[in-house]
This record gives sequence, structure tokens and C-alpha cells, in this order.
Amino acid sequence: MFTWERVTSNGFELIGSDPQPLEATGRRAIRRGSSGGNPRIVGREPADGRGLRLVDYPGRVSVRPESTTDPADPMLDPGASYALDPRRVRGLLGGVAAATSGETFRTTAPFTGQPLAEVPVSAAADVAAVCDRGRRAQGAWAETEVRHRARVLLALHDLVLDRQAEIMDLIQAESGKARKHAFEEVAHVAMTARYYGLTAQRHLRGAPRLGAFPGLTQVRVNRAPKGVVGIISPWNYPFTMALSDGLPALVSGNAVVSKPDTLTMLTALSGAELLREAGLPDDLWQVVSGPGPVVGTALIDAADYLCFTGSTTTGRAVGAQAARRLVGCSLELGGKNPMLVLRDAAIGRAAEGAVRACFSSAGQMCVSTERMYVADDIYDAFVAAFLRRIESMRLAADRSFETDMGCMVSAAQLAKVTAHVDEAVAKGARVLIGGRPRPGIGPLFFEPTVLEGVRPGMSIFADESFGPVVSLYRFTTEADAVARANESGYGLNASIYTRDVSRGRRLATQIRCGTVNINEGYVPSFASIDSPMGGMRESGLGRRQGPEGIHRYTDLQAVASSRVRVAPVGLSDEAYAKLFTRSLRLLKRVRRP
Ligand code: NAD
Repeated sequence: MFTWERVTSNGFELIGSDPQPLEATGRRAIRRGSSGGNPRIVGREPADGRGLRLVDYPGRVSVRPESTTDPADPMLDPGASYALDPRRVRGLLGGVAAATSGETFRTTAPFTGQPLAEVPVSAAADVAAVCDRGRRAQGAWAETEVRHRARVLLALHDLVLDRQAEIMDLIQAESGKARKHAFEEVAHVAMTARYYGLTAQRHLRGAPRLGAFPGLTQVRVNRAPKGVVGIISPWNYPFTMALSDGLPALVSGNAVVSKPDTLTMLTALSGAELLREAGLPDDLWQVVSGPGPVVGTALIDAADYLCFTGSTTTGRAVGAQAARRLVGCSLELGGKNPMLVLRDAAIGRAAEGAVRACFSSAGQMCVSTERMYVADDIYDAFVAAFLRRIESMRLAADRSFETDMGCMVSAAQLAKVTAHVDEAVAKGARVLIGGRPRPGIGPLFFEPTVLEGVRPGMSIFADESFGPVVSLYRFTTEADAVARANESGYGLNASIYTRDVSRGRRLATQIRCGTVNINEGYVPSFASIDSPMGGMRESGLGRRQGPEGIHRYTDLQAVASSRVRVAPVGLSDEAYAKLFTRSLRLLKRVRRP
């Protein structure tokens, strides 16, 4: 595959894939060189003064035939400029709750660079007004029965499964991920909706607690909704991160105001549309739009609880702002997730699992594996099996379930990943496979990449890359592997490959990560909605999923009643204190807490 690039004062920019630009402009064809070796210029077209060059980017990763179904380049074919049907886009944008700033921002499709939408931007004052509106609607909603609210979630479950093709189209258009990874989001939303739809009553039921004196004091604990829950979500899982955390908030009687990432507004708006269709009354799920430092901060200032998913840097600021207002928050943050491949691991299974753990959603996953510690005895055999599997990966900008990896979400993300790899190589790391952008497939593609020789002092050693890049290390003792896995400040997800699951479980207790998957990368913990998910240390505070994921959206209220007066009756205060002391001693003797 060859790409056309325009030479600019500070480099070049991609304008399309050969042969479309030639056909579109009617320029003469240029003889092409053969592939192999480093990227090289195989033709120039200066005649029209536009400074175009045709570049061959042979990759070290051999991919099966690249997609040839790229839509036309919008810069050369205005008729094909929008990647989605503009009427559908306008309909979705109508779902932004309020946007009086007068500003808009343009989003583009990562696969092609084509424009997607001009998204209206909410003003800070809009966010406050939207939260007020949500609060007004929330009062009546909280008075409905839990099973009435749960019905909306169960209806959403069905809608999401029925409309999955359309949802996956949107996810792919905005994020550039492969179809199979878009399906993970569909499945996760459906599973979360079903789980809370069927269990909310149990999680929210008031429960008795031990009173001060057996038989004399009764205590019952109630759960009250917080009010308006703000959800700030990232672009990497645009459907499920925007939707799933809000479902337990809704069913526990809250209103939700969602602020998705600007890159992926349409997918988030489609989730709100589905909720309306599932029967959710007006103003209980509203979407605001715009940059985090303006619209996100306005939401933290107006909501009664904040659920944030994003980077650790932003999470610290969000936590500090929420603390100043004394509103609670949960923070789901970044990771530099380790995988341990023990001496007794099944090599084929570990290699296959590692490909999914490292390269799903092109590595743009909070739970993605970025560091692998492999037992010395099996290191060479494992690496050979791992590289063989990577060589047969299919990279493409298409909607096929056969495609193994899509692209980076943005030029900024591509630049970050490229910089991480380039810096590591300049400082002595070795590229075993991959290592380069692949503009021949699409402007934001980067090869699945494996590095060796990564050391402290290289950014990639400890910083989250959030791309399809993994560093390999050998270990001799398991104690050493665990210590190195724990070296990172992050503590989100880890995985262990071993044939001895009991040993894997014992080792897991020594790893300081919120989830540990044995003989898989991330799916079992992510998909087990009854179990808590979140980070230790710099990877976050609080947990999504399970009872913890719904309880965070409620305030506890203890209601106590007493059959007798809790005061001395006919006794002096001193005699009462003695009697009280005797009963305390007795309660301990009978082991009553
Ligand atoms: P980010 O922190 O830059 O942005 C996340 C969201 O926060 C966006 O909606 C953004 O608009 C908003 N935001 C930005 N600045 C803000 C501010 N000052 N106040 C309020 N909101 C603000 O994160 P990103 O780089 O876009 O997303 C990728 C990061 O998210 C990675 O670090 C990844 O590991 C993490 N992530 C974590 C989880 C998890 O469950 N732990 C899941 C997905 C992604």
C-alpha cells in the first residue's frame, strides 16, 4: 500500500491512499517501486504545485491484505466528505442537553481523517442549569419502585443487542477500533444493564444491623440516592464508559449528567437515545458537551457525586475539586499493567492471550498489558510463539470481524506512542516486531510492537503508553517477577499465566492491582459484572461493578429505635454507670459484637 502525502513546511501530512487521489484528480500515474526496506519516496507530483509525494511504507509486521474499501478522501472529493450520514449525525447532536456557548468543534474519523460532526459546545452556565433540571426530575424518579426503574435497564439490554450493528458502526467511526473490540463494548453495556436490572432490588434493600442492646435497640440502614450524578468519561471505550457507570446510578434513583470525551460524542449520544427509547423519562439522563477543563469542571461544581474515568493526572484534579465541595467521587484511572508468564505456563495459550491483552483496541485500554515478565526457561520459546501470532495479525480500516486491530484515536495519541517507541530505541531498546506508524492503512495506524531491553530512564518503562506496544523482560525467580510487577506506581490490572491455578491465586495476593486475571489478560474480571473493578494506588479510588458499583451512588442512613429509655430510671448516675459496665462485660463474654 502506498500513501500520498503533502509536503509542508514542517514535515508532511497524509492526504490519502493510492490510487484514489490519482483517480480523483486525473493526474498521471507514477511508476511504483517495490516494497521492502525502510519507508521511501517512490514518486513525486510537483507539477500542480501542491508538493505531493507517493511513499511506500513497507511494514515489518506482515499483515494480510489491507482494506481496499477506504472511502474517498474528503480533501479531494467534497461529495464524500462526511464519514456518516449527516442527517443521522444532526439527529444525534440534537441530544446535547444545552449548548449556548456559540462554539462548535469538529470531530474526524480516525480510519480516514474524514469529518464526522460539528459538535456544539455547552457553556459552564448550561451545565449548572442542566444539573438543576436533572435534580427536579430526580425527586419523582427516586419515589418510584426499584423494579420500575430496573425495567428501563432490562429494556436497554434488549435494544443494545438488537441495534448492535449500528452501535458498532458509530464506535468504529469515532474511535477507529476494530469491529471485534467494538463488540466488547456492546456486550459490556448489555451485561451491566442485565446485572443491575436483575439485582438492584437486592443491592438497595434496607438491611437490619445489630442494635446497642439485644432485643432493646433495633437498627435499620436505608440507602438514599445522592441526587445528580456526573459521569465524565474518556474516548477509549466510548459506548460502555459513557453508559455503564451511569446505569447503577439511575436504578438507585439518581439523575445522570454525562460529559463524554469530545472525540466520541456521537456514540455517547446514541446511548442516551437508546435509554429514552427504553422508557427513561425526560431529564434523567442528559448529555453536555465540551472540553474537560471547562465543561468537566463545571459538572464537578454542580453534581452531587462524580464518577470519573480517565488519566491519573486529570483524576487528581477531579478528586481535589470534588474534595473542596465535599462531594464523593470514584476515580477509574490509568495503568501500566504487568503480565507474568510463569515457567509452567502453556506457551501457545499464553502467546495467544498476550496478543489480545496487548493489542485489543490497539492497546488503548486502561487494562491493557504493557509489561511482560517471562520465566527465563521458556522465554525464547514464548517470544517465538508470540511474534508468530503478531505476524499474522490483520490490521485494517474496515468493519470486518476478521480484523485484529484498528488504529489510534487521534494524531496526539499516535504521536505519543511513536515518541515512546522512538525514545526507547534511541536509548538502546530493541524492536522485535513493529515499531512504526502504518499510514498506508490509514492515517493513525501503528504497528503492534514488541520491545526488549527497556530500562529505567526510558519513558516507556514506567509511563502508560496507551498504544499497541509491550516491553518484554526475563525473570528467574517468581519473587523477583512479583517485585518488578509491583514496581509501578499504578495498580490497575495484572495477569498471570500458569498451569497451576492455585499457585496463580496465591501469587495474585502479592500483586498490588485491583484486578488479577489468571490465564487471560483482562476479559474475565471486566466481564464479571458482580465483581468489583478499579485500581489500587495511582490507578484510582472506588470501584465500578458489583455491589460496590451501585452503593457508591447512595448515602447511608441508619434509623435506630429503642424499646426503653436510654437513661437512668430510678438509679443514680453512678449506679447506672456500674450497671452499664457489667452489661458491657457480659456482652463481651457471650461474644456479642
Ligand atoms: P483524560 O483524563 O484526558 O480525559 C478523560 C475525560 O476527562 C474526558 O472526558 C475529558 O474531557 C475530561 N477532562 C479533561 N480534563 C478535565 C478536567 N480538568 N476536569 C474535568 N474533566 C476533565 O483521559 P484520556 O487520556 O482521554 O483517556 C485515557 C486515560 O483514561 C488513560 O490513562 C486510561 O488508562 C484511562 N482509563 C481508565 C479506565 C479505568 O477504568 N480505570 C478506563 C478507561 C480509560
